[in-house]
Amino acid sequence: MHRISALPTDQVQAYRDGASDGYGNPPERAISNGQGNPCRHCLTYIPEGHEMLVLAHRPFPGTQPFAETGPIYLCAEPCKRYEDAAELPEALTSSPNYLIKGYGPDDRIVYGTGVIASQSQLHDAAQTIFAREDVAYIHIRSALNNCYHARIDRA
Ligand SMILES: [Zn+2]
Repeated sequence: MHRISALPTDQVQAYRDGASDGYGNPPERAISNGQGNPCRHCLTYIPEGHEMLVLAHRPFPGTQPFAETGPIYLCAEPCKRYEDAAELPEALTSSPNYLIKGYGPDDRIVYGTGVIASQSQLHDAAQTIFAREDVAYIHIRSALNNCYHARIDRA
């Protein structure tokens, strides 16, 4: 099987402490409207009125042509990291569909793996992608906005 992984706590804390984002800018601060602002650390929606960080995140170890960088939200206050598990976190239950695609050990897209999966078929689709041995991990992204949500790792 496999598990869904949120951003590591040390990385999130660094952003809270003002570390530069994927484009070298300090994270912006804004107030959550309570909808559509999922935190990539606790993988729940940031409650309305709560402060959040808005920043460009590169969910890859280094820069290279395939290291897509894009916008994410994080709770500005400390939150509990989603524990790697198989069940879908709250942040992945609001949209009917998600874009998932496999990446190789070189952090580049494994072509032919990308698919729009419905929420209920997310795990089956991930299993199909992991059947390919050249896939190291999978990204879950917004099907409409391409924003990075979380990663799926082999268990
Ligand atoms: Zn959070």
